[in-house]
Amino acid sequence: MTLLEIENLSKTYPGAHGTTVKAVSEVSLSVEAGEVLGIVGESGCGKSTLGRALLRLIEPSGGDIRFEGKSIAGLSRRQLKPFRRDMQIIFQDPFGALNPRHKVGAIISEPLKVHKIGNTASRAARIAELLALVGLPEGSAERYPHEFSGGQRQRIAIARALALEPKLLVADEAVSALDVSIQSQIINLIAELQEKLALSIIFISHDLSVIRHVSDRIAVMYLGRIVEIGPSEDVMETPAHPYTQALLSAIPRPNVPRAERVVLKGELPDPANPPLGCAFHTRCPSAMPHCTTERPALVARKIAACAKPATTACHLYEVA
Ligand code: SF4
Ligand code: MG
Repeated sequence: MTLLEIENLSKTYPGAHGTTVKAVSEVSLSVEAGEVLGIVGESGCGKSTLGRALLRLIEPSGGDIRFEGKSIAGLSRRQLKPFRRDMQIIFQDPFGALNPRHKVGAIISEPLKVHKIGNTASRAARIAELLALVGLPEGSAERYPHEFSGGQRQRIAIARALALEPKLLVADEAVSALDVSIQSQIINLIAELQEKLALSIIFISHDLSVIRHVSDRIAVMYLGRIVEIGPSEDVMETPAHPYTQALLSAIPRPNVPRAERVVLKGELPDPANPPLGCAFHTRCPSAMPHCTTERPALVARKIAACAKPATTACHLYEVA
């Protein structure tokens, strides 16, 4: 069953000197119930904006969002409220996301209060349940966020996000601020919770090595657009888009000889002034003359190196 579908979602911002920044351009994708979709790309590629826009935490500039088949793109704040229960987000900085003056119990149960769920006793029971779920001792409810480590604070943020039993969780760079050893603990926790609760998760990260283990599918973003999307093994083992190949080259893979690695040259172009044609052409080692003028469509293509068709936006794979 498809839980979330977004169609041609865009988000533009006014930039400097009257320019328009297209943070997200005409992104279409869907998330199945119980599926983990990883979204990867460099900082500034629009993935966080996409995560917030699809939850309507920021207003999209265009496109549609359907949750369980119902369009939520045009709903008012009040009309959105029932959907808010089903869609939650966790952020990179667990400390900034937790009110330092509130005890952990109050923080975790806040969504229950906002949605007027239960009474004091049932909320206390739910707090205990949530603390156990994320692997924190029961006494944590009476303590303050500053008494916890970064990893524990992210557990608190996860407990709060799960309080309303959401169907969809967006994890935006949820482990990026943590030490590598703690990162894997939190990734494992999210993976366990996903399975236990049959959650759908959109796992956003700049780091492919972070999302590869948890994601069923991976979408690769570059300058506001998806350039490749597919099952994780396909994207990781036979990446089609030169940008995906470059991202993968940055992480060690035992089966790929060093010589075949694609090195990304140059900086990410200014999103206020993205290159014409294929936006990746300024950094692409395989760029052809028409790449500078014609934008490749994101379509499923038969690719020699891949067993299955790959969904990618690249002129390299167009049949002449
Ligand atoms: Fe490179 Fe051209 Fe493909 Fe863009 S369309 S990724 S520039 S080969
Ligand atoms: Mg971000």
